[in-house]
Amino acid sequence: MSTPRSTQDPPLPIAVRLPDGTVSQGEVPASVHRRQHLGFLASRVDPDDWVELAAGPRDPEQGWYFVTRRKPEGFLPGGRGRTDQRWLQQACQTADGHVARSMEMSVSYASRHTPAGTRDAVRGAQLLWADDDHRDDGNPACDAFCEQFPPHLIVASGGGRHLAWLLERFVDCAALADLQERMALTVDGDPAAARPEAVLRLAGTRNGKYPDRWARIVAMDLHRPAHLTDQITAALRPKPAPKPRPTPKARPWAGRDSSRDEARDLARTVDPESYFDALAPRLMDDFNPRTRKVCCPHPDHHDRTPSCHVFPDADRGWRCFGGNCPIDAGGDVFDLAAVMQYGVKANALTAEQFTSLADDVYRALGIHVRETTAS
Ligand SMILES: [Zn+2]
Repeated sequence: MSTPRSTQDPPLPIAVRLPDGTVSQGEVPASVHRRQHLGFLASRVDPDDWVELAAGPRDPEQGWYFVTRRKPEGFLPGGRGRTDQRWLQQACQTADGHVARSMEMSVSYASRHTPAGTRDAVRGAQLLWADDDHRDDGNPACDAFCEQFPPHLIVASGGGRHLAWLLERFVDCAALADLQERMALTVDGDPAAARPEAVLRLAGTRNGKYPDRWARIVAMDLHRPAHLTDQITAALRPKPAPKPRPTPKARPWAGRDSSRDEARDLARTVDPESYFDALAPRLMDDFNPRTRKVCCPHPDHHDRTPSCHVFPDADRGWRCFGGNCPIDAGGDVFDLAAVMQYGVKANALTAEQFTSLADDVYRALGIHVRETTAS
């Protein structure tokens, strides 16, 4: 039995201020929200660069996890300066296909020069964004900032709201990382969603965390000019001075020439604090050696009060005790890398995915793997 169209493409309220200044508001189908949101973001990305459309199913056990972050089909060409709308039609068809297969979706706000979901693939952006995940308690810091600098886009994500401010000037990835971190501080937004490589929920898609809740565009302003980059950045709070980190410990595992099997065993002897330092240095900026806690590395666990325990010994590894954790994240060094990259534990990966993930782990830890031709 096919699903009736109304549940696949329900009408959702929207308000758009058109370029001529007139406001159009009412209810439009979810597919129109997707088209508007993709168009807003992708029309600001160069045709040789990429917009990431990350999609994945929601598993009753594992929660929502992306299956596209390393696949070419998860990346759509940018539309800046294109005169025909075929690129947007294709982007919408890709999104429609995911909806038809009950996948949930997020989209990148920064452009990629390489089709990958990692920080080093990010070119930069001509906008800033924030994830205001306060729900019923309100967010006066964000409201005050929006009064001074009205956002060009507000998306209700299902659990909070995402805001974007267009800039008159493009900022590269390094500058963007800095500004985004300061934006999250200024508007009390979620720091994980502020990262340049982050993907945020696509409007016009179902948020399966809540029954029957759809992300939607609340307001889009195509009339207001872009904010002056220097003006908006001058209003952002400065970053706090970095805490001094203790001098690095000896790394007896690094530098030795190992076979793949030896490398795997060696990686499993590394203490969790050291492998968090290597794989998740930004999380470790807030590591508290007394409580041994950091924020959860799972990309879909917006963990404001650190719930992830980093044990002192490799046997116990690490574990997230947060009630909202999609998969009760935890395990060993490979599980950490798998959770960060795929949102699942290492045993849920294919052999090919695991090999590529393990290479990333060895590189980060400084373990040298001997190349062999033996099968
Ligand atoms: Zn967690």
